[in-house]
Amino acid sequence: MKISELLNKKEPTLSFEVFPPKTSDLYDGVKAATDAIADLKPDFMSVTYGAGGSTQGYTTEIAANVKKRGVVSLAHLTCVNASHESLKEQLGRLKENGIENILALRGDLPAGVESTDDWVYRHASDLIPVIREAGDFCIGGACYPEKHPESRTLAEDIANIRIKVDAGCEFLTTQMFFDNTIFFNYLYRLREAGINVPVVAGIMPVTNARQMERILKLSQAFLPRRFVSILDRFGDDPKAMRQAGIAYATDQIIDLIASGINNIHIYTMNKPGNAEWIMNNLSEIIPSCRKQ
Ligand code: FAD
Repeated sequence: MKISELLNKKEPTLSFEVFPPKTSDLYDGVKAATDAIADLKPDFMSVTYGAGGSTQGYTTEIAANVKKRGVVSLAHLTCVNASHESLKEQLGRLKENGIENILALRGDLPAGVESTDDWVYRHASDLIPVIREAGDFCIGGACYPEKHPESRTLAEDIANIRIKVDAGCEFLTTQMFFDNTIFFNYLYRLREAGINVPVVAGIMPVTNARQMERILKLSQAFLPRRFVSILDRFGDDPKAMRQAGIAYATDQIIDLIASGINNIHIYTMNKPGNAEWIMNNLSEIIPSCRKQ
């Protein structure tokens, strides 16, 4: 099923992001975790795409596996450092495995690279035509409520999102954010710029303060006082931190849905227990979270 169809329904949806193994010895553990997450039957699952060449095929494998377990799957694909041939090969494998949805991304710049001027594919918007040429995929893209770190202003970043949407991006998934007001303002700016595709809100349950330090720094997300207090008070107590982090994410999701935002994507960090906990918290609010 195409994700654009799912997102255009009137009911709220909950989807999960997982990541493939970075090395082959981690494959079995990741497969077990992603299977367990798929068995929760979210509306769809996305599988990230790694920067390392040899393990990039795992994205297709995990996405195909998710689909086999009866869940709509979305494979991420990046064009950073890619050649036309390598992209065509990846797209061919996705097609062979029946994957219908792709999140088109540029990917992070390798360390030391400051400009993409000499590259064939400099932006996600350059990747979209290659995907369209390869088959009938539903294409999504990333967006950044607090602007992409490489953009000078939010207005400039939104103008570039417009290019991505005009190229054929049918929905957007946001970078994580911890203050819903930022998301509401951003959505208003997108709509004002004539960007009317569905925007899926990306929520990161912060359940392990230490593990999250790097990710929080990378995302450059604004951390509200209430969130910082949770990290301060419970950061050294894993069980309390997990409970408080799930409660914070649940509260964010309920506020979003109450305000009319229907599509929520959870960055699960491959943790089935956290995904299940959140689903249980939303069992009367999101249809796919109801126990079958
Ligand atoms: P772009 O859309 O290309 O934007 C990058 C920068 O270029 C922005 O500043 C933008 O304003 C500017 N820009 C865009 N288009 C143009 C244009 N046509 N002309 C001029 N400037 C332009 N990374 C991975 O490696 N693997 C993943 O699986 C992955 N999944 C992600 C999922 C989500 C939901 C998000 C939010 C991010 C993900 N990332 C992933 C990280 C992402 O690759 C980085 O944030 C990367 O730096 C930018 O990717 P992009 O697709 O947003 O790039």
